[in-house]
Amino acid sequence: MVEENVHALLKKLEKGNCFGEHVALVAATKLRTAEEINRAVLAGVDAVAENRVQEFREKHNHVRGVQHFIGHLQTNKVKYLVGKIALYHSIDRDELADELSRRSLAAQVLSEILVQVNIGNEESKGGYALSDAFPAYKRLKTLPNLRVRGFMAMLPRSDDKQLLGNLTDEMRALFDAAKKTDENITWLSMGMSEDWELCVAHGSNMVRLGTAIFGAH
Ligand SMILES: *Cc1c(COP(=O)(O)O)cnc(C)c1O
Repeated sequence: MVEENVHALLKKLEKGNCFGEHVALVAATKLRTAEEINRAVLAGVDAVAENRVQEFREKHNHVRGVQHFIGHLQTNKVKYLVGKIALYHSIDRDELADELSRRSLAAQVLSEILVQVNIGNEESKGGYALSDAFPAYKRLKTLPNLRVRGFMAMLPRSDDKQLLGNLTDEMRALFDAAKKTDENITWLSMGMSEDWELCVAHGSNMVRLGTAIFGAH
């Protein structure tokens, strides 16, 4: 039951992360109907987020609530999103940031973004290497009509809690380093259905949950 799942998650998130910060609950809505998504919105999720541009375009007029984008984004599809997305989690390369900046400038909108980091160094995942993430953040910060609001990462699949704890701590250190001198830095988006509790225990303040809200596909 979507409503019960959302209420239970909000209850668990109530006390915040390990630093007592509020944790935002974002519903990952790939392959869910607008009707299911709206049930999650009414139950109290902070935002909903699509992975694919095509699905976003089909559903977005029927979906209420704040809409984010979390999937891999081709530069030639940026034009379909500009002005409609409150937060882009998946800005994973300079070419994409440049295109979003250019389109945002032309449309006279400000696009809020997170810098995606490939924290597990996985070939199958996008994102800047951890060693390049801070310089990338500095570069993206200078682009017109973009505002960097933080960082996003997907953890590798692993049962090694020590390893996952270390990776999430590295992400939090990166976030803290940027936040120290930049008041726009607010969000560390980290945590999916399988690992969100560990992420929140290591300083994530935004989780993206699909299965935990809507059930398995
Ligand atoms: C699907 C997806 C999620 C949510 O995954 P679940 O395991 O279903 O919670 C989170 N982030 C991204 C980028 C996703 O594609």
